[in-house]
Amino acid sequence: MIIVCPHCLAKNRVPEEKLAEQPACGQCHEALVPLAPIELNEQNFSQFISHSDLPIFIDLWAEWCGPCKMMAPHFAQVAKQYPHVIFAKINTEENPRLSSAFNVRSIPTLVLMNKTNELARISGALRSSELQQWLDQQLTAHS
Ligand SMILES: [Zn+2]
Repeated sequence: MIIVCPHCLAKNRVPEEKLAEQPACGQCHEALVPLAPIELNEQNFSQFISHSDLPIFIDLWAEWCGPCKMMAPHFAQVAKQYPHVIFAKINTEENPRLSSAFNVRSIPTLVLMNKTNELARISGALRSSELQQWLDQQLTAHS
């Protein structure tokens, strides 16, 4: 499968069975699946999302949003447990065009995508256990 490096955007071909072994980027040698949320923005979003063969779980958030800050450590915690899902954050204030493309009505909003297809979304802050439960349900439903 193809995984886009979150650091340099190089496309890497990785055998699916190697995903759990923390594969590194052939170009910049950084972790391809960092097991921590990466930052997507208007510069890297379309390149990243249209070429990655892994599902992408996006947290749309803002600096002023209390519930977003409450959820952030939970989101990071859950990211460690999913080597076959890319966790990403989009700052809605710094990326107003992306935010409006997602038609975000309230934050935090969580969106699960497979390439450019939106699979599911949910709004409101969730705790680790709720994040996992929701994500597992969606991954099962769309596998
Ligand atoms: Zn790289």
